[in-house]
Amino acid sequence: MDLKAIIFDLDNTLIDFLTFKKETAKVAATAMVREGLPLTEIQTYGKIFSVYDEKGIDYQKTFRDVIEPFGFDVNKAERIQQAAIVTYLKRKFEVLKPYPMVYLTLEKLRKRYKLAIVTVAPRNKAWQRLVFTNLQNEFDIVISKDDVEEKKESGFDIAAQRLGFAAEECMYVGDNAERDILQAKEIGMKTCWAKYGSMRKTSETKADFEIDRFEDLLKIIKG
Ligand SMILES: [Mg+2]
Repeated sequence: MDLKAIIFDLDNTLIDFLTFKKETAKVAATAMVREGLPLTEIQTYGKIFSVYDEKGIDYQKTFRDVIEPFGFDVNKAERIQQAAIVTYLKRKFEVLKPYPMVYLTLEKLRKRYKLAIVTVAPRNKAWQRLVFTNLQNEFDIVISKDDVEEKKESGFDIAAQRLGFAAEECMYVGDNAERDILQAKEIGMKTCWAKYGSMRKTSETKADFEIDRFEDLLKIIKG
């Protein structure tokens, strides 16, 4: 294939985002119960994920939403919320990581291709996660949710334009087999499903390729 650029999704493709969200929810739940939330840790963990499901995984007031229905006085509510936030942040620094072999694989790919990110995460969160995982200098361009809203085009169109390549010269790699893969394919990009990051047990995908490990990308590109 006459490939010029590879465009990556960020969360659950480059970064093991789900492990990070699960691990931080666990410790936050423990802290909230310790500070007086009248639920078990498992129930609290469940409530945190209900808020994520309803409001989106990047929602910024998750713990407040969990605490609010109990009608505590403001100081107790704040104490429980801050206990959750502090433990969440401490744990975040330990668990937010790229998948194995991401650095080495990107290093090899960079020698031959332009590399980009298209993510549905907000701009500040995307960059925060990139800096955090030391991936901030690996990509030629980063297109976030905010860039898409400003331009009113799909992130894939914007990425191809900014890279200066036709969609057909780009390959998209992402874990979302439905929305993202289909959108990229629709405009003519090659697509690769990052099966290892998929939260849903999708068995079928319209992607041209699929990978069980990040580094398998190198095999696909050689082939
Ligand atoms: Mg993703």
